[in-house]
Order: sequence, then structure tokens, then C-alpha cells
Amino acid sequence: MTTDEGRPDWNDQSLGGRVRVALWLYEQVGEGKRFRKQAMREAIPGVEQIDRRMRDLRPAGWVIRTYRDMASLSPDELFLETIGAHVWEPGKRSTGLRTVSGKLRREVMDRDHHRCVRCGISSGEEYPDEPGSRARLTLGHINAHAYGSNAGLENLVTECARCNETAKQFTPVQFTADHVRDQIRELSKREKTSLLSWMALERRPMSKTEQVWARYRQLPGGERDELQRELARMLGSEGEA
Ligand SMILES: [Zn+2]
Repeated sequence: MTTDEGRPDWNDQSLGGRVRVALWLYEQVGEGKRFRKQAMREAIPGVEQIDRRMRDLRPAGWVIRTYRDMASLSPDELFLETIGAHVWEPGKRSTGLRTVSGKLRREVMDRDHHRCVRCGISSGEEYPDEPGSRARLTLGHINAHAYGSNAGLENLVTECARCNETAKQFTPVQFTADHVRDQIRELSKREKTSLLSWMALERRPMSKTEQVWARYRQLPGGERDELQRELARMLGSEGEA
């Protein structure tokens, strides 16, 4: 299936999700036009994580704005500002796609103590506000536009899949800024001060206890049980001393 100009059809299910999204945006939306995420989902059904496929176009030079950076958009609207590389063309399929080596991935995760730098959750831990849902760790970018050759240790952070989605700004957030502002007001001065420093750092530094906890979480179950018993004994004998 191809168009008159030789472009493949976005309905062609043999194409990858990123290519199909690019074709749909090119054919049906066009530069300088707004569109609804829902319309994209309906046009290209069955593509998993379609938002992610769309975001994957950014490093290929595509500029897609959300309501967060364009006040005139409503939360479910997006704006196709710039059409980037024609990723449906054979030589351009992988433009902007990058692979993080296993070694780099380990380095980033080790540095971040195998915890999400945004919410602090470790791998396999249950979200406190979402019982039954367990965290999966992935890598995120500090600067969403610093892809490609720039993706190095200093640009990458460990994030859980949930924070990663929110951070990429295409998933509607569950809270409003007013809600968060009210919660900030309720914090003590000390708590406000730490929050401000985390904001500046773009991460939550871990206490010594949390660092140990994160490493402990990486151990096999039997060794964890053993350490737990040891710690209980340690505290017991310290109590007597
Ligand atoms: Zn998280």
C-alpha cells in the first residue's frame, strides 16, 4: 500500500508504530495544525504505547507541543509544530533512535541506587496509591530533547515507568497544580526547604538508610530474610547494652 507519491500508507500494519504515527501526522494533520490524541489512537488502532511512539519522533526533529507548553491547547490537544525526518523513507527509518548500551544502563541505575529519582520507588515495589501495581524501572532523559548522541550518563536518570510517562508530558496528570500547591502549603518550613532543594536538583537525594534499603531490595529473597533477622538481633543486643 503506497500513496501517489510513493509514501507507505499509515494503515499498513506491517510498518512500525513510529513510522505509522509519522505518516498519519504528515498526511492527516500537517505542520502548524492541532490534533487530538484520541483521533490518533482511533486512526491507528492496535499500536501499543502510541504516545511513546509519537514521542520517539522528537529526536528525529519532530516538534509536537502539548497544552503544557502552549496555553491555547486543551489537555487532550497537541500541536504539530514541525515535521521532522521522513522516517518512512528506507534510509531514515532509524533517524533519532538511539540505543542505550547495557553498560550505560547499569551505570545510570547504580548511580541512582536502583530507584526512581522522581518518586523514589524501587523495582518491583508496589505503588502506595495503586495497590497491586508494581514499579518497573526504566531510563529517562533529564532533558527530553537531549536524545541521540547526547544521551550519556549525565543526561539519563532512573525512572519508574509511571513517572517516565508523566515526565514526558503526554500523559494527563492525576493532580492539578492547585492541589499540589495546597499540599506544599501544609508542609513545615523544614519540609518546604528540602522540597525546594529536590526541585533544584531534579531528584530526591537518598538518605543513608534509603541507600541501604535500595541495595537490600536487589538481593535474593533468602539473603534478605537473613539480613532482616540479623538486623533484628543487632537491635536487640544494642537495646540491652
Ligand atoms: Zn517513579
